[in-house]
Amino acid sequence: MLVVMKHNASSQEIRDVVDMIQEMGYEARPIPGRQRTSIGLIGNDGQVEPNLFQSFPGVLEVIPVSHSYKQVSREWKEENTIVTLPNGTRIGGTEVALMAGPCAVESEEQILGIAETLAGMGATILRGGAFKPRTSPYSFQGMGVKGLELLAKARDETGMAIVTEAMDVGTADQVAEYADILQVGARNMQNYPLLRKVGRIGKPILLKRGLSATIEELLLAAEYVVAEGNPNVILCERGVRSFDTQTRNLLDLTAIPVVKSLCHLPIIADPSHGTGIRAKVTPMARAAVAAGADGLMVEVHPDPNRALSDGAQSLYPEQFRELLDQIRVIAQAINRELTPPLGE
Ligand code: PEP
Ligand code: MN
Repeated sequence: MLVVMKHNASSQEIRDVVDMIQEMGYEARPIPGRQRTSIGLIGNDGQVEPNLFQSFPGVLEVIPVSHSYKQVSREWKEENTIVTLPNGTRIGGTEVALMAGPCAVESEEQILGIAETLAGMGATILRGGAFKPRTSPYSFQGMGVKGLELLAKARDETGMAIVTEAMDVGTADQVAEYADILQVGARNMQNYPLLRKVGRIGKPILLKRGLSATIEELLLAAEYVVAEGNPNVILCERGVRSFDTQTRNLLDLTAIPVVKSLCHLPIIADPSHGTGIRAKVTPMARAAVAAGADGLMVEVHPDPNRALSDGAQSLYPEQFRELLDQIRVIAQAINRELTPPLGE
């Protein structure tokens, strides 16, 4: 960290900063310049709050020189983290992983039927919420444990891995009994007790970017999970709030190459929640793969008009098949490939 003093800072003000740094147990290295003095703080491993020095008399600005996240950073680990699921699907390597399914599990017929269709098309990970975080308390809240049981049945029948949301600390263990990947939803990205909890459970985590979270906040949320001893975190760009009302969210595809340069964890894209509009899902899914996403999470429903949640952004199964045909070509162009279908 570098504490930059104002040009007219007194020598006493400079000394006060130096004394404070030393009192905290770090080395202070004043660097006199032609216009102003800066003071380097050495030995800080992300523990010092920059705001502390910001309010000292004579301080102009404080510049952090290292990231506040550690273990998720590329500096900590240069090679990509690859998350491997029990059915062999790898996320973070050269393959582009395919997670697809309805927003919510609604019935046995719905989830088993769509699982079979999607597995037949080549998806290897089935999504579907059993516990749903809904904006309105009067909207469908999910089937709960029954939904988890149906997901497990779909896995038994198709071989697909299951990704489903754990909404709170109290139900996380129960969800983990069924899920291959525990999803932490956008609304819970900064639920720190939940992040610590899923970190201790140890199963792969899909961590979705918060509705207004910066990339740094996303990486710090991942740091919570990794710091608990769980290295298997998959990040998900799912769109952020914007001033424009044309789409539900603004899918921030720049986040993909930015995260890739800062962080070794895989990152996938969710163009369904990212756009909120069926017709916009396919173009943004194509763009996400082109941008380097390690996978896609796409909502697909057998009968979107009758879906109990997010029907307007859910693809018809046939549209998902077309999407796969298109992204197969895009993946190839950047020396990647789609995860091979189960059994191949
Ligand atoms: C979901 O995946 O169904 C979901 C609720 O996503 P998000 O947390 O990104 O809104
Ligand atoms: Mn949804």
